[in-house]
Amino acid sequence: MDMREAVKKAIHYGTIQSILQYYICPQECEAHCCKHGQIHIFEEEYRIFSQIDPEKAKRVQSEMPASPLYRIETPCSFLKPHDRCGVYYQRPIVCGLYPFKVNTSGNSIGLQPCPVGFLIIREFALWMMGNVSKTGIPEEEKAKVITEWENTIESYAEELSGFHMKNTLKEIQIPFDELEMFAMYMSSKDLPKINAGVDLG
Ligand code: SF4
Ligand code: SF4
Repeated sequence: MDMREAVKKAIHYGTIQSILQYYICPQECEAHCCKHGQIHIFEEEYRIFSQIDPEKAKRVQSEMPASPLYRIETPCSFLKPHDRCGVYYQRPIVCGLYPFKVNTSGNSIGLQPCPVGFLIIREFALWMMGNVSKTGIPEEEKAKVITEWENTIESYAEELSGFHMKNTLKEIQIPFDELEMFAMYMSSKDLPKINAGVDLG
């Protein structure tokens, strides 16, 4: 298994893609993540960029000497007019993942409240509330947990409201086991798969 495949497996990339297939970026977001994000890619991905277009790849820099990570200088030089990715089917893992973001825990994944990310956070929170309401825990405790999730939705809605002006965003952390169950829930809803570009393998 090559390095990229190993990373994808470790971060549940396929599951994330199966969630992202139900979401599409609003045009008015104007590819904000490709223009203003902090985008770190692997050396192997840098090499792919160099093969595709050596000139454009010059805007991708090594983080520091001998570092395996490279940083895309934004706006990304591979972004095409009309805010389309020019290397969509060969895009780096970090791009295919966003608004999900890798963390260092090894057992969860971050999710940022950009316009699409917020919709996923809200759906996740509603699903969690539905699960809690079906459990046999005392009503008082149930109400407390549901209120916490309502507050979570509200706080990420606030975070979203200033999204386009912020350099850093608060992100929710989703444990991988909950991510897997949430993906199953999403697929059970029989929603239209509006994002045809996800990498389902
Ligand atoms: S992933 Fe989020 S930030 Fe990037 S274009 Fe889509 S909605 Fe905008
Ligand atoms: S490679 Fe594509 S998705 Fe990634 S930052 Fe560049 S234009 Fe955006």
